[in-house]
Amino acid sequence: MTDAQALVKTLDFQLDIQSDNESLLYDATLEARSVYNETIQLAKEGVDWNVIPDRVADDANLVKNTTQRVVAKALGAMENYYEYDDFGQPSHTKDGAYPLRANYEEGYNLSLTNDGDVAFRVSAKPYKHVTGVLEGSDVHLDILKTALESDEWKIGTAEALFHNDNAELHVNVTNTEQTVRNKQDSQTVIGVDVNEDNVALTALSEDGVEDTLVIDFPEIKFERHRYFTMRKRVQNAGKDSIQDTLEGREERFVRDRLHKVSHHIVEWSQQFETPCIVFEDLKEMRDSIDYGTRMNRRLHHLPFRALQYYTSYKASFEDIPTAWINPEYTSQRCPMCGHTERANRHKKRFKCKGCRHQDHSDRGASVNIAVKGVKKLNWNVPALNSLPQVRKVRRQASGAVDAPTVTHPTARGYQADGRMGVSD
Ligand SMILES: [Zn+2]
Repeated sequence: MTDAQALVKTLDFQLDIQSDNESLLYDATLEARSVYNETIQLAKEGVDWNVIPDRVADDANLVKNTTQRVVAKALGAMENYYEYDDFGQPSHTKDGAYPLRANYEEGYNLSLTNDGDVAFRVSAKPYKHVTGVLEGSDVHLDILKTALESDEWKIGTAEALFHNDNAELHVNVTNTEQTVRNKQDSQTVIGVDVNEDNVALTALSEDGVEDTLVIDFPEIKFERHRYFTMRKRVQNAGKDSIQDTLEGREERFVRDRLHKVSHHIVEWSQQFETPCIVFEDLKEMRDSIDYGTRMNRRLHHLPFRALQYYTSYKASFEDIPTAWINPEYTSQRCPMCGHTERANRHKKRFKCKGCRHQDHSDRGASVNIAVKGVKKLNWNVPALNSLPQVRKVRRQASGAVDAPTVTHPTARGYQADGRMGVSD
C-alpha cells in the first residue's frame, strides 16, 4: 500500500446527440430526480441507508447501477451539506432534472471514431441508449483520448446533465501514473481550521510555527442566513419553484466563494517547504460520541467538506498532499501547555486556564490541527515557545445586498491589509 494520492480530474463535454434522442436523455434526468427525491424521503423516514439503494432501484426506470450511483449521490448530499441546514431542517425534495450519474462501461460508454472524435453511448433507460459525439476543449478531449488509448488515465463515473438547456457529460478520470507526493516526504504541515465565517491556517515545521493566517469570509455566513430567510418566506407562501431558484442561487454563491477560499489556502501553502495540508475529519467526529456545541454548530453551518474537498483537489494539482486527523479537542486544547478544557474558549478568544496563554481561538485550533498532523507523520513535535502574530485577511464586501452576483465575483478577490491580492 502506498500513501500517495492519485490525481483525479473532471472533464466537461457538450453532447452532440444523434437523431432525436435528446428528449430521452432529458426524461432520464427527470427520472434521476425522482430517484433522488425518493432517496431523501426514505432517509427522512429513517429507513436504513444500506437498504435504500435496492428499494429505490425496484421502482426506478433507469439502469440499475445508474440508480445506485444517483442514490449514493443523494445520500452524500444529505450527509454533506443541505441536510444540515441552518436550523437543522432536512433538505426538501425538488422538481426538475438531476444529473444522471453512471459507471463507465455499465451506464455509459466511450470510444474513438475513425474521424478522431470521441463517440458516447449513455444508457438513459434500460435498453434505450442516447448516442453521438462529444464536443469540448482541446485539452479535455486530448486527455480523454489518451485515457481511451493508454493505461495512464483511468476512466471513472460520469454525469449526464443539462446546463442552460444543453446536454453535457462530465467524465471523471484518474491519472494512474502521476500521483501526488507522498505525505511522509513533507517538511511543513499546514493545519486548516474551517469555521462558519473564517478559515485559520498554521504552518508548522520542525523549527516551530512558521506563519499563521486567518481568512475571514463573513459574507458567506451572511448570505446563507439571508437566503435561508428568503427561502423560508417563499416556502410559507407555497412557492416551491422560487424556493428552488433561491436554493440554486445560494448554492452557486457559496460554491463560488469556497472555490476562492480554497484557491487562497493552496496558494498560501505553496510558500513553505514541501507542505502537507491537514484537515479535521469531521465525519469521524459525527460518528463518535458527543461532539459539543461548537462542533455541532460548525457541522450545521458550513459546507465544510466541500471546502476541504475543493482544497484537497486543487492542492493535488500543485503536488501538495493532504492528511486528515481526528478533530477531538482541537478547539479546547492550549497549544502552548497542552491544558485541555472547554472553558478555555470564549467565542473567538482563547484563554488558557492553565498557563494563561491567550490567542485567537480559531488560530489556536489550527495550531492544534497542525500538531496532530505532525504526530500523524511521526515527526517530533517542536517546542512551541511563542506563536507569531495573527495576520488576518478579509474578503471585500460583496456589494449589493439584494442582488448577490454569483457568476461575476469581484475582480480583486481578497484584500489583506493591503498586502495580498488574489486575482482569481
Ligand atoms: Zn496553556
